[in-house]
Amino acid sequence: MATSSEIIAKTVQLGANNYHSREVVIEHALGAKVYDPEGRAYYDMLSAYSALNFGHLHPEIVAAAMEQLQKVTLTSRAFHNAVLGDFYEQLCDLTGKAMILPMNTGAEAVETALKTARRWGVEVKGVANEQQEIIVCANNFHGRTIAIISFSTDPSARINYGPYTPGFKIIPYGDAAALEQAVTDRTVGFLVEPIQGEAGIIVPPEGYLRQVREICTRNNILMIADEVQTGFARTGRMFACQYEQISPDILVMGKALGGGIMPVSAIAADAEVLGVYTPGTHGSTFGGNPLACAVAIKAMEILVRDDYPQMAAEKGAYFMERLRQIKNPHIKEIRGKGLLIGMEFDHPAEEYLDKMMAHGVLAKDTHECTIRFAPPLTISYAELDDACDRITQALQE
Ligand SMILES: *Cc1c(COP(=O)(O)O)cnc(C)c1O
Repeated sequence: MATSSEIIAKTVQLGANNYHSREVVIEHALGAKVYDPEGRAYYDMLSAYSALNFGHLHPEIVAAAMEQLQKVTLTSRAFHNAVLGDFYEQLCDLTGKAMILPMNTGAEAVETALKTARRWGVEVKGVANEQQEIIVCANNFHGRTIAIISFSTDPSARINYGPYTPGFKIIPYGDAAALEQAVTDRTVGFLVEPIQGEAGIIVPPEGYLRQVREICTRNNILMIADEVQTGFARTGRMFACQYEQISPDILVMGKALGGGIMPVSAIAADAEVLGVYTPGTHGSTFGGNPLACAVAIKAMEILVRDDYPQMAAEKGAYFMERLRQIKNPHIKEIRGKGLLIGMEFDHPAEEYLDKMMAHGVLAKDTHECTIRFAPPLTISYAELDDACDRITQALQE
């Protein structure tokens, strides 16, 4: 087998340089651990940005995929497939919504939510077409399409990609008064992350989501919650919005919905909202494919059966406590919910990432100074303890 450095050299030489990948090659993985070609083991503290809530190669999800692989994997939506209805039913149960629209990636689900809100704005709210406005938050991360990066405030996400898509208004995150002020009679939606993941695990003030819900309802605008990263138990609730006992009008999901195997995304909403679609008005060749549905159905079954939200809440509290015991004068703040934890330093975190890697722990920074700790929710307490010992050694060196 090629060595790690040979593999990295080829990857860097032939691939577009749009990622600053850490200097490690993952050759195989199981549960919370990954292994490089030289056989070194590491704890995975990123979980593919929370797409691996079930850990690597969860045996039951792999089995569900294998079974579907021997029946049919792709039909397109030109025909019905035998599993899509069950996927809808389970996702409706999980979200409390009446209808689902399936896509593949998170960015596509966000785009779908934006399209839905614009169309709803015209056909239900009565705003003139091309006048619809959607409010978003500063420091958001919703994906990489042209429309989505048009309302990013991160210069590196936007630079030289113009002309940008109009129709978006940016307000500060966590500021309900700013939302109230930004609303006009052309506003059709407010797109928000319940916790800002890529921005550095930013938890909004207590009560924010409830206030947002109230403002959206009172002004007849759709509350669109992007739970692509926070959803499916990551934060200690099935969806992070449940911390404030609210339900958005459109729930955007992705990442862990694919069980760590497939890209699977979807939006959930009630019929007044998703009812705006008619044949031909939106679609995706791969969205709702039987392999994706089979994997997602098994993932959702496991989430509920094994009470993943409780698992994430308990392990998250324990992990946070252990991280707080680490003595390093450069740690500014430790924050987060469940197993979505950010550790912010007063300077760039890269040196600590290198030290952690040398101690067998893989993690990534967000916004330079913050390390995100987001292990698979299935990590055992023994593994978590071992990982914490290693992190402590690395950060106290
Ligand atoms: C990752 C992410 C997306 C984009 O998902 P992709 O599958 O990478 O397109 C959108 N929103 C949030 C909050 C995310 O974390």
